Amino acid sequence: MITPLIAGNWKMQKSPSEALAWLEGFIGDLTKINYSHADILLNVPATHIASLAKCLGESPVTLGGQDLSEHDEGAFTGEISGSMLRDAGATFVLVGHSERRQYHHENDELVNRKIQAARRHDLVPILCVGETKSQRDEGHAIQVVLKQLRTALNGVELRHHDDCAIAYEPVWAIGTGQTATATDAQEMLSVIRNDLKGLFPDLADKIRLLYGGSMNPENSHELLDMDDINGGLIGGSSLEQESLLAIIRSAR
Ligand code: PEP
Repeated sequence: MITPLIAGNWKMQKSPSEALAWLEGFIGDLTKINYSHADILLNVPATHIASLAKCLGESPVTLGGQDLSEHDEGAFTGEISGSMLRDAGATFVLVGHSERRQYHHENDELVNRKIQAARRHDLVPILCVGETKSQRDEGHAIQVVLKQLRTALNGVELRHHDDCAIAYEPVWAIGTGQTATATDAQEMLSVIRNDLKGLFPDLADKIRLLYGGSMNPENSHELLDMDDINGGLIGGSSLEQESLLAIIRSAR
């Protein structure tokens, strides 16, 4: 049994003070529901991590960054290193999100270097992979996703199955309200799990695989019920306390 990971991705939303008020309310509400069946993560803007970390207390919430530099230190204006995220209080970091690939031209080789950087600083990278609509329509979805996966993980060493997680996020489903069917998501995640067996034979069965792409309280139950969907990466629906709590409740 793999404990599901319910991971929010706030993107570039909420000011630091709004985020703090949100988190205080959310932690209060969490105590009213039974959440022990899921791990909870918020991937927030890097500027928010240190102040949010101070108000976590004994709560089950963990924090993650949304990106990191491939470099550890130096003259890289605007960049944020893995050690800075870690020191601020993050334990996870998203790597290769499709918005980074699309708007910042990140390719699989850079994503690979960022995964290595995350591991050097003891952060758990959540590697995001996924095909575009035209790649799916042309029948290339599996080929595209496996290339992203293999290049990003090339040379990466994991000691434990929790050292890394993979999020399958079809690009056409992110922020569009169009969700992959539970069957299609399961099919791709099972292909991913199978491929991971070649890379990490002793760990692959337990590495957490997430689905992301317009997950919401209406569809989360069906998605999270699938064998190889061990959690969700959730954008829009993680911004409201009620919808995130409902998704957490549905992760059984
Ligand atoms: C995401 O940002 O990774 C995401 C899946 O967004 P949304 O849930 O809004 O589609």
